[in-house]
Amino acid sequence: MTSQIDPKTTGLHWNFDNSYCQLPSFFFARQSPAPVRAPQLVIFNHSLSQELGLSESTEIGPSVALELAGNQIPVGAEPIAQAYAGHQFGHFTMLGDGRAILLGEHLSPSGQRFDIQLKGSGQTPYSRRGDGRAALAPMLREYIISEAMHALGIPTTRSLAVVSAGQPVYRETTLPGAILTRIAASHIRVGTFEYAATQGNQRQLQALADYTIQRHYPDCANAGNPYLCFLEAVLDRQARLVARWQQVGFIHGVMNTDNMSIAGETIDYGPCAFMDTYHADTVFSSIDQQGRYAYGNQPLMAQWNLARLTEALLALLHSDSEEALRLGRTVVFEFPERFQRYWLSGMRAKLGLFTEEDADTALIQALLAWMQNTAQDYTHTLRSLGSDALAAQPFFHNAAFAIWYAQWQERLTRQPQTPEQVRALMNVNNPAIIPRNHHVEEALRAASEEGDLTNLHQLLEALKQPYVERPEFKAYQMPPPASREPYRTFCGT
Ligand code: AMP
Ligand code: MG
Repeated sequence: MTSQIDPKTTGLHWNFDNSYCQLPSFFFARQSPAPVRAPQLVIFNHSLSQELGLSESTEIGPSVALELAGNQIPVGAEPIAQAYAGHQFGHFTMLGDGRAILLGEHLSPSGQRFDIQLKGSGQTPYSRRGDGRAALAPMLREYIISEAMHALGIPTTRSLAVVSAGQPVYRETTLPGAILTRIAASHIRVGTFEYAATQGNQRQLQALADYTIQRHYPDCANAGNPYLCFLEAVLDRQARLVARWQQVGFIHGVMNTDNMSIAGETIDYGPCAFMDTYHADTVFSSIDQQGRYAYGNQPLMAQWNLARLTEALLALLHSDSEEALRLGRTVVFEFPERFQRYWLSGMRAKLGLFTEEDADTALIQALLAWMQNTAQDYTHTLRSLGSDALAAQPFFHNAAFAIWYAQWQERLTRQPQTPEQVRALMNVNNPAIIPRNHHVEEALRAASEEGDLTNLHQLLEALKQPYVERPEFKAYQMPPPASREPYRTFCGT
């Protein structure tokens, strides 16, 4: 039975203010989470909880697991499943929260609004044939990678907790079930606009656009054409976000339009992974057989998704459809240049470049080409460039590298900054520690199969300060052993 409870002192201090369910009912279905058999906190993010004003200490009472499993509805929550559509691998489909429930929006002490979503919380009207559930390992995976992204300084949804369900989920094998509590600026997706444009009327589309502008892009409300301003602003945030992904070697894996957040956060961690050996064609996801969402394709796919958003917004861009199309096109075509600008400025910082020269792009590309040709580890190579131990790296004695290195050194002499300044810039832009696949897998295996969380906690600790080299976490800096099979990820169902 689900029931309303009062927060106790050791419960979470919710401060719900639910605005999404004021939208036309077309956008959601009221739906409570389905209770699970024996909820138990597996992991709880105390620092995030405190940031959100949900708790003051690390003391957590028994009601927390019940609430974050969906067995008790916190006071002020108004659980809904959100409706959306999306292009999955290029094909349009009706979707919606098939295994997630939005409990509501929590206002933090600083007045920021956050969606509180339970993922894996049972069936909804949008479940199609799915069971509405999630397995423990993929939920822990989202927890690890999203928190790692946050520590890297990349916009992302966050993870408050994972609760084990005390009941199995049935996939290819029987697995322990779990529920993740996801914290997001919102869960409004490109696919939410596609849903409004294809299934709704103009009034509903405009209601969604006005709501989203007010919530995420309030400055656009006063623009001459608020919807054009909004489209441009979303495009800008996506260009910046994907540039950040490229800079750390993050591969989302399933950049469908339903997995692209209008607020510009990385969202829906399924088959994502960080690249070890640099190659633009890198794909980890077992379902992405054409390489649609390969590392090097991510900017292009972001632009493709933004073209779908533009189509969905056409009716609002201008009353004349030709003019609407012209305006929309102009914005979408801006993507490559904006992306390039963000990418270049980030890559300059990674190489310690403070000033700008036209030849910088070629210098950066030459390094990437060398890494690709000689199968170097992306993160390790870049971090090594700013380290004392560079000369001790095996690649330092490679002839092709020596040529590039001489060019880079010469470039550095053409800026006024000291070597110390160069190194400092590099070290805050090149992480020493990323969630490497072999470490993530080992932590998940131990947690899921043996109930042993030691590795998981150790890994999370290491990932908290990715730009700092701490001797106790040295092992997490190392590339994986060379002999490993190509790494594969599976969709997080
Ligand atoms: P995702 O791959 O997590 O982005 O999910 C794509 C779509 O499938 C979303 O609409 C999900 O809600 C839905 N979905 C994924 N897994 C399940 C499941 N086990 N039960 C019901 N719906 C699911
Ligand atoms: Mg999704």
